[in-house]
Amino acid sequence: MPGAAAGDGERTIVVLLGPPGAGKGTQGEQLAAALGIPKISTGDVLRAAVRDGTALGREAKAFMERGDLVPDPVILGIMKDALSQPSAARGAILDGVVRTVPQAEGLQTALSQLGRVTTVVLVFAIDDDVLVRRISERTVCEACQTPYTGHMPGSACPKCGGRLVRRADDEPDAVRQRLKVYHAQTAPVITWYATHGVRVVPIDAVGTRSEVQARVLRAFSR
Ligand code: AMP
Repeated sequence: MPGAAAGDGERTIVVLLGPPGAGKGTQGEQLAAALGIPKISTGDVLRAAVRDGTALGREAKAFMERGDLVPDPVILGIMKDALSQPSAARGAILDGVVRTVPQAEGLQTALSQLGRVTTVVLVFAIDDDVLVRRISERTVCEACQTPYTGHMPGSACPKCGGRLVRRADDEPDAVRQRLKVYHAQTAPVITWYATHGVRVVPIDAVGTRSEVQARVLRAFSR
């Protein structure tokens, strides 16, 4: 299998970077299965908190609906909690977890306290206009949260029969804001990693799911 997760006592942390709609979630699921480590998504944790109406959800909701970032201290709390779970003992795929330089610094500090860690950063590259089109075709199942492309809002989830809806932050104004935020606040994280001795691998995110998956797996066979 290409690049299995690290051996005893060593963690593999894969940071997925890239704009909204670049395919981080889908590719992250497949990579998690291939490497045998969990995928952690702060977006999923926050959406569940909003649905459940918890204190975290109430704090995050307005930021998310506007397409803005949730404050760093909130994200660092979620990140540390997720990494301390037994399921993450051999590492994790971090999907959208690191979106600002302070978050990258906070993650590095947290990881330095966890023993031997190999960090790899995958950067999904894709043009904004392709993303806007992709996101406009995206729906998600209200019940099981599976994302789909090209299935109409209101239709039934092929997996569980739940209702497919559009995410509030996939509406055009929020998408434009999320892209703006990505370029201003998340793109500098790539340079931060490259200048801190972390392996950064660009992934061409244009193509079918399996074409992109093959590129991702190739990054682990080197
Ligand atoms: P995602 O599903 O990863 O696109 O995340 C959805 C929304 O959750 C983002 O637009 C942000 O409002 C919030 N969010 C998720 N992860 C982070 C993060 N690492 N830093 C700040 N905000 C985040």
